[in-house]
Amino acid sequence: MQPLTADQIRASFVNCSQGEAKRAALPDLTVVPWADLDFLGWTDPSGSSRAYLVAEHDGELVGLLLRQNPAGTGQARRSKLCEVCVTAHTDTGVCLTVAAKTGAAGKRGDTAGIHLCRDLACSLYARGQKSSGVPKLRETLSTDAMVERVRTQLDVFVRRVLA
Ligand SMILES: [Zn+2]
Repeated sequence: MQPLTADQIRASFVNCSQGEAKRAALPDLTVVPWADLDFLGWTDPSGSSRAYLVAEHDGELVGLLLRQNPAGTGQARRSKLCEVCVTAHTDTGVCLTVAAKTGAAGKRGDTAGIHLCRDLACSLYARGQKSSGVPKLRETLSTDAMVERVRTQLDVFVRRVLA
């Protein structure tokens, strides 16, 4: 994706108040690997349940404030799949991630949820630049196809939030 400025990111948020967008702690934009990202995603460094993502949707930047489910108790040893990059993670590496919907639906309290990599690094997993430590599914998809899937799946989620 194209490198973004802090102002562009703050102006892109669609499902939170201006105050929340202003207060959002941004990642260090000078070290973001823009060329390898399909979307910018990060968690709140203060350790709250907040996370953020910014993606292009229909030619516009869309920023979402997200809430992540806290890490489980660690008792469940089953691996889980991210719905965007289809990376298998340990129990805590994927979490239910929820966004308030925009518009009237959001005012009613409607949300959209998705199981997403807790570190929101789907782009890097799809490119083989990051590993979850859990053996991969036997997939025959090329890297290009996996990257395309990340973009498509994320766009489906963004569309649900905007619906
Ligand atoms: Zn993922």
